Amino acid sequence: VSANTLQEAIAEPSRAGRALAHFNVSELAGLKAVAAAAKTVGQPVIVGASEGEREFFGARALVDLVRLLSRQMDVPLYVSADHSHSLGSLKEALAAGFDSVVFDASALPFVDNVERTREAVACAKSIAPHVLIEGELGFIGSGSVLVRRLGTNVAVRGSDLPTPDQAAEFVERTGVDLLAPAVGNVHGMIVEGAQPGLDVPRIAAIRAAIRVPLVLHGGSGIAHGQLVAAIQAGMAVIHVNTELRLAWRRGVEEGLARDKDEIAPYRILRPAVAQVSRLAELYIRLLSGQTLPDAHGATR
Ligand SMILES: [Zn+2]
Repeated sequence: VSANTLQEAIAEPSRAGRALAHFNVSELAGLKAVAAAAKTVGQPVIVGASEGEREFFGARALVDLVRLLSRQMDVPLYVSADHSHSLGSLKEALAAGFDSVVFDASALPFVDNVERTREAVACAKSIAPHVLIEGELGFIGSGSVLVRRLGTNVAVRGSDLPTPDQAAEFVERTGVDLLAPAVGNVHGMIVEGAQPGLDVPRIAAIRAAIRVPLVLHGGSGIAHGQLVAAIQAGMAVIHVNTELRLAWRRGVEEGLARDKDEIAPYRILRPAVAQVSRLAELYIRLLSGQTLPDAHGATR
């Protein structure tokens, strides 16, 4: 196992035009699948859990299991407390031992987001200075879900997206270690109509204006060529959740359909592990530059 910290792992691949994959998990089948994919490709991966996912899995249990799997399987796995919306939730994540915490006040106006995030970073650094704190700038929706159509309150139009100056001011005033700016896409996947595209020139401009690594949320359903362009423009970490959830559900349905009398959970869940693992593997290869985007096209 590499003794690198998450900070080192993020800095290392981004130098070579690669990004780390951040995959959310809710339960053990998903975690097994993601860990197996990391092992197969031989790349570090960030395992993420939102507040809801942490509540279901158990924050402490998830952190300990990720550490255990990382040692047992000899592959670098990191663990991130995704989308923490309060100081209480942030402190719980610090106590549980996460490598990074996403503090999300992006639904608030800029000045309030700056104030809340600054407060969160100061609190985190006084408790666990080595834990990376990520700030979110620009609201892109709140869930890894299938949505009928684009919400009216999300920032996807150019005039709503944060400017490089705003990004620089946000990083300067809050002290975040990582920044996730809205760059045109949203959380979740749009069922009816097209997924909004990434503003790649803006990613490059924001990258040039700040010193901390950039993170892309809402990686599901985006054309793979665009993801690669986003990495080349400076994205160092890419979150994919919705597509993995979709693969999990299809796998569970397949497992249930195989035999109506089957009641062994490990037999029912086997196709879910296989489907999630296959998809995670594809993304790890794409993000780490091991496959070209056109090998898979604009797949969903
Ligand atoms: Zn997110």
